[in-house]
Amino acid sequence: MGSYCHRRYVSRLFQNFGKLQPKMKTEQEAGLSCNSHKLMLYNDIIAPSYFGGFHMLPLGVRALEKLTRLVDQEMQTVGGQKIAMTTLAKESLWQKSGRWETAGAELFTLKDRQKHQFCLGPTHEELVTQLLANNQVSYKQLPIRLYQITRKFRDEMAPKYGLLRGREFEMKDMYTFDTNKDTALETYNAVCEAYDRIFDRIGVEYVKVSGATGLIGGDLSHEYHYQTDVGQDSVLLCDRCEVKMNKELAAVDGSLPSSCQLPATDCELQERKGIEVGHTFYLGTKYSSIFNAAYRSQEGQNIHYSMCCFGLGMTRIIQSTVEVLSTENNLRWPSLIAPHQIYIIPKKDGPRGSEYLAAAGSLSDSFTQRPHLRGEVVIDDRMSMTIGRRQVDADRLGYPYIVILGVKALESPALYEVVNVAKGETTFMSEDQLMALA
Ligand code: ATP
Ligand code: MG
Ligand code: MG
Ligand code: MG
Repeated sequence: MGSYCHRRYVSRLFQNFGKLQPKMKTEQEAGLSCNSHKLMLYNDIIAPSYFGGFHMLPLGVRALEKLTRLVDQEMQTVGGQKIAMTTLAKESLWQKSGRWETAGAELFTLKDRQKHQFCLGPTHEELVTQLLANNQVSYKQLPIRLYQITRKFRDEMAPKYGLLRGREFEMKDMYTFDTNKDTALETYNAVCEAYDRIFDRIGVEYVKVSGATGLIGGDLSHEYHYQTDVGQDSVLLCDRCEVKMNKELAAVDGSLPSSCQLPATDCELQERKGIEVGHTFYLGTKYSSIFNAAYRSQEGQNIHYSMCCFGLGMTRIIQSTVEVLSTENNLRWPSLIAPHQIYIIPKKDGPRGSEYLAAAGSLSDSFTQRPHLRGEVVIDDRMSMTIGRRQVDADRLGYPYIVILGVKALESPALYEVVNVAKGETTFMSEDQLMALA
């Protein structure tokens, strides 16, 4: 019975295979909602809390935790050390960097009982640079690469599309501290490679473009975008002229090569809608000089760090991959972040109903004996419903595999009907073949 606790029955999950809520309809009409937002609400991945704020429900948290594990792995591969900074930041720090003014209305601000003013961190350059300024660091300890995965707060002018543009959201932010520009650029490249690996492993096609530095500042920056019509950025891409940039950048510094500005050439410039899911910056000494954050050099001098920072929109990544992969009615996930991997449907109640349910339980146990599948298998025990009806829900949830236990599952040797959801293919498999699957 030891493995019994790993069995998950649909009827006991916090999930109601709900209906579209009336509020959603008005949001859809107002253009504030998109397909992935609708599907995530409908399937109880997220739930609305306030305008631009969403609860993550159990399935949403599972997806987020999987993405977190992937990001932790890749950040630690490049020497990242995980921290968790405070959410509240003192006004004085943000005044010092000048961003209390420039971030303006996007900052959520509040006062404590002594009337000291704070903001809820929208990003953490000030706090992390102050942290380093308060520590004695020798050149021997560098590079230092710190990261966190925490909630960020931005009073967006126009929250939209659920997790895609929320007023609070989960971000992975890394801040790095190097001896000089050359070593900082080595760090920059190493972390960009880690980003490439993260996006490769997620498996949804992305583009990396030169980015606008905006509010963060600095002079070298790249953005990672998924291409989807709900993206609010425009990216310019030209294979022939090797252009890959955020359109904002072309507008700001005119860096679009002249070949792409002259229609007479045979350039292939395309403009696509993109959603920014990652952003990398070389900052140089912009913040370290303001906060006097310095390391002790070999010669005993105090030298300002050369810094970089790297953001990843965790909750945005989850919903935008769903936006790219899903159909109108059915969620589709990158298999790495699907909340569960396997959905088992035992045949409906009848004279042998309990046998089907028991077979589903032991099949689930066989899967979950392997550590990587623990918690990954869900049994649809709504036994008064037909297989077909439950399969509609399974298809809607979009887990990678649906395993149906029909008549052949009780024969010897047993055969199971397996749907590869991404491919839409159905095959019959023995238990051994099934175990080799996931
Ligand atoms: P955008 O251009 O979409 O407003 P940004 O450039 O302001 O994003 P950054 O300051 O670069 O965002 O933050 C790092 C990452 O955090 C972004 O690349 C994005 O993935 C994510 N992010 C930013 N704002 C939001 C938001 N309102 N909701 C969800 N994720 C966000
Ligand atoms: Mg923004
Ligand atoms: Mg941006
Ligand atoms: Mg950005």
